[in-house]
Amino acid sequence: MLNLVIFGAPGSGKGTQSEVLIEQYGFDHISTGDLLREEIKQESELGKAAKSFIDAGQLVPDGLIIGMIEKVLEERQPKRGLILDGFPRTVAQAEALDELFAKHGTAVHAVLELRVGEDELIQRLLKRGMGSGRSDDNLETIKKRLDVYHAQTAPIAEHYGKKGVHHAIPGSGAISDITARIGEVIDTLG
Ligand code: AMP
Repeated sequence: MLNLVIFGAPGSGKGTQSEVLIEQYGFDHISTGDLLREEIKQESELGKAAKSFIDAGQLVPDGLIIGMIEKVLEERQPKRGLILDGFPRTVAQAEALDELFAKHGTAVHAVLELRVGEDELIQRLLKRGMGSGRSDDNLETIKKRLDVYHAQTAPIAEHYGKKGVHHAIPGSGAISDITARIGEVIDTLG
């Protein structure tokens, strides 16, 4: 079983590429952003606790996220492979994930970082905001999310770089070209 982390700034195409990979490889997909939006819709305790952080462009506290991931991994028990999308987002989350996987005799096999320039990220997110109805796809919150990404999330690349599983992938251009670049990396994983 292959455990992949699809990684990159907000708007880098993680969700889009995850959808294609699910289709092509039959992987299971866990998006912490989607899970949190569902919790908010259900008005659960977790949803209520997460909403103000999401609307402010801040990260939801690690303890809440790690608890949610533990529960989902136990429920789903993925077989063929797993794509983690939007998680881990802090080094503490990455360390917790490494421990959790180690307990189950597995590991993160590849971190696929989609690299896209800042101007393009902002344009993509503003465009998405017009159709998505997402409360955090407005210019002020987008800028905050990009700052949070650079400060808290980007250091994960180094964490996984040290383990030899980090791969940088140019994330601009046609969706199918980007998928092909990801496919080349996945093929090397066996
Ligand atoms: P996303 O859909 O991945 O862009 O996530 C939307 C928002 O949900 C983020 O801006 C965070 O507020 C929150 N979020 C999603 N995943 C995480 C995570 N792993 N850690 C902390 N906050 C998260």
